[in-house]
Amino acid sequence: MLSRPDWLKKKAPDERALENMEELLAGLSLHTVCEEADCPNIGECFACRTATFMIMGNVCTRGCRFCAVGKGIPGPLDPEEPENVAKAVRVLGLRHIVITSVTRDDLPDGGAAHFARTLHAVRGLNPGSTVELLIPDLKGDWNALRVIADGRPDIINHNTETVPSLYPEVRPQAVYERTVCLLKKVKEINGGIYTKSGLMLGLGERETEVEGVMHDLLEAGCDILTLGQYLQPSPDHIPVREYVRPEQFDKYRDMALDMGFKYVAAGPLVRSSYRAADNIGALKRS
Ligand code: SF4
Repeated sequence: MLSRPDWLKKKAPDERALENMEELLAGLSLHTVCEEADCPNIGECFACRTATFMIMGNVCTRGCRFCAVGKGIPGPLDPEEPENVAKAVRVLGLRHIVITSVTRDDLPDGGAAHFARTLHAVRGLNPGSTVELLIPDLKGDWNALRVIADGRPDIINHNTETVPSLYPEVRPQAVYERTVCLLKKVKEINGGIYTKSGLMLGLGERETEVEGVMHDLLEAGCDILTLGQYLQPSPDHIPVREYVRPEQFDKYRDMALDMGFKYVAAGPLVRSSYRAADNIGALKRS
């Protein structure tokens, strides 16, 4: 097993900040991807009173080999969850909110209506806030996608995660072309919604393959790109093949900006939702 380089080490989180956030979330029966996916930035984000809400439970119907979120048969949807997310946003005073979900292949609409209800509730209680939805692929149901897009979130994010040659090993139930197509469909439904996607690096991808994904995403009209280092959550998950050096992330960022992305966040500890408020701030100023 490769040993983790210094550039991935973060200082221990402030226990009080973690407890405060956990109390708030538990009181409203909410989950975050920050906790469920063992995000390395949790100390920093919770100390800044920001988090990424994970709706529709904490059990996922897919078996992606990189992801720490629990897998199995999820429970029923919580009808109070949309309002509870809205309340948490107000308590935290968030101006930009990121909401994601587990993949709910068991629901006929993949959870699209629940996303729409949550977006509506958050906007209702927090006027002026911007909302980013990080959504699953909905098994390519573009009617379900329309239900989400019709609420006009500011950003729809759908992660590519890795290069197409690694999909069978890393995301066995996902389809690369469907992922790219989802981003394209968002623009067809409403060209005013920003689209965003991200890749984890260090899974064995080649530079030319990363460049190829960037081309595909740009052709689909994708505005924002995130690139971060994959970290193995447990020995049962797919191993890290390489710790990509910070200079290589800088190179990818410059390449992506030269190619035409409007905003790029690239670095070993960058995650899809890391400092996400910076994306929308930069796009609104541009
Ligand atoms: S980077 Fe995103 S997932 Fe990680 S702790 Fe911050 S808000 Fe949560």
